[in-house]
Amino acid sequence: MLKGKTAIVTAASRGIGRGVARVLAREGANLVIASRDLERLSRTASEIRSEFGAEVVPVQADLTKRADVAKIVETAARSFGGVDILVYNTGPPKPGTFMELTEEDWDYAVRLLLMSAVWLTKDALPYMIEKRQGRIIYITSLTLKRPLPNLTLSNVIRLSIAGLVKTLAYQLAQYNILVNGVLQGYVETERVLEVARDRAVREGKPLDDVLRAMAGEIPLGRMAKPEEIGELVAFLASERASYITGSLISIDGGYVQCI
Ligand code: NAD
Repeated sequence: MLKGKTAIVTAASRGIGRGVARVLAREGANLVIASRDLERLSRTASEIRSEFGAEVVPVQADLTKRADVAKIVETAARSFGGVDILVYNTGPPKPGTFMELTEEDWDYAVRLLLMSAVWLTKDALPYMIEKRQGRIIYITSLTLKRPLPNLTLSNVIRLSIAGLVKTLAYQLAQYNILVNGVLQGYVETERVLEVARDRAVREGKPLDDVLRAMAGEIPLGRMAKPEEIGELVAFLASERASYITGSLISIDGGYVQCI
C-alpha cells in the first residue's frame, strides 16, 4: 500500500509511535523514526528492519528543541530524497491541575505539543509541495473531544492541533497535500501501564483491578493495541484515503460518546 513512500514518525522508540512505524514498514514505506532515547530507538529500528525488511533510519531528537527537530526532515532528505508522509506523535505532557502547573511547564508543553508540529510541518512542506503530493497526520488525543480532569496541558494545547489540521487542509489542498488528525483513546503502552501502576499504589488496589476498571469504561471492553492506531494511520497515508482531508478521526473503542 505504501511501497516507495518515505514516512517520518516521531516519538517512535516505543508505544503508539513504534506501533505506527511497524505498520507503515509492513506496508512497504521507508522510515525515518525519531525520539530522545537513541539506544531504545536504534533497537526499535533494527527490530522493524529485521521483521519487515524495511529501510529504517533512527534520528535522536528532542521534540522541544528546534535544532533537533530540523535534523529529522534533513535526515529523510539525505537518506531518501524527501518525505511523503509526516506522522507527528509526541511524548505525553505533564499531568496536573491548573493550580499545580508552573509557567515553565506551560512553556515546555507548548514546545512539545504545538511548536514541534509547526517545525516538522514547515520543514517537510517544501518536499511535498515540490512533488504536488503529501500526507500529514497528527496523532493527538481523545482530550480534543473529552477533556480529562487532570490533563490540563493536553486539554488546552492539543486543541491548537485541531486548528492546524483545519487550516492546513484548506491551504494545502491545492498541492494535493492531505492533512488529518487522529484522536486515540486508551492505548496499551508502557506509559499507560505506568499511569495504572501509579493509580494502583495511590488507591491501594491491585494493578489488575485498576486495568480492568480502565478497560471497563470503554464500550469495546479493552484498550487499543498501538498497531491498531497504525492501521488507521496507514490507511490515511494511502491512496485509498485520497478524499479525506481536514478530518479529526476518533479511534477509541467507543469511549467518547459526543458527536
Ligand atoms: P510512551 O510514553 O509509551 O511513548 C512516548 C514516546 O515519546 C517515546 O518514544 C519517548 O521516547 C518519546 N518522547 C517523549 N518525550 C519526547 C521528546 N521531548 N522528544 C522526543 N521524543 C519524546 O507514550 P504513548 O502512550 O505511546 O503516547 C504517545 C502520545 O499519545 C503522547 O502524547 C500521549 O499523551 C498521547 N496519548 C496516549 C494515549 C494512551 O492511552 N497511550 C491516549 C491518548 C493520547
